[in-house]
Amino acid sequence: MSFAWTQHRFAGGALALDVANSVILRFDPSRSVDRFADPVQLEAFPAAASAFSAERALFGDLAPSKPSDQSRFIDLREAIDRYFRARVLGRANGGMLADLLEAIAALLRRSDAASLEAATAHSALRLLDASAIERLKICGHCGWLFVDRSKNRSRAWCDMAVCGNREKAKRFQDRRKERAL
Ligand SMILES: [Zn+2]
Repeated sequence: MSFAWTQHRFAGGALALDVANSVILRFDPSRSVDRFADPVQLEAFPAAASAFSAERALFGDLAPSKPSDQSRFIDLREAIDRYFRARVLGRANGGMLADLLEAIAALLRRSDAASLEAATAHSALRLLDASAIERLKICGHCGWLFVDRSKNRSRAWCDMAVCGNREKAKRFQDRRKERAL
């Protein structure tokens, strides 16, 4: 099946999380896929982010990542995932935050304001705000990080239309299996 950066891929509610979520099924190394490992997908990401990201009004049209900055950008992605995932799970430490801030600083020093790298770094800084961090969650189905902006903070899925429905179908099947025992 061919891959495309659809609206669903931007369910994180913040560019930094959409970038972190470019690794699918991180929790399962046997099924995990890094979408940025394909240069075509990495190249296509900024235009899709400018169309679909919840923060698109803050950054407008993003320039694609410069090849010379790509390894720093991937380092930033990994630092974002490590720190914010640990934060949700109550396991974050000063070292993880320092790694994140260093990765942010390394890119901000060399990136244009309108670049994917700078926009991702700024998004990560916004997420450190207490009101954003309180709303951070991990999707109960796919493991993606997302900001729950619902009024009563009741969202369990990155995207109800995808993961919510898959999880419902899975529970239905589990119940059927139980009844058949
Ligand atoms: Zn999900």
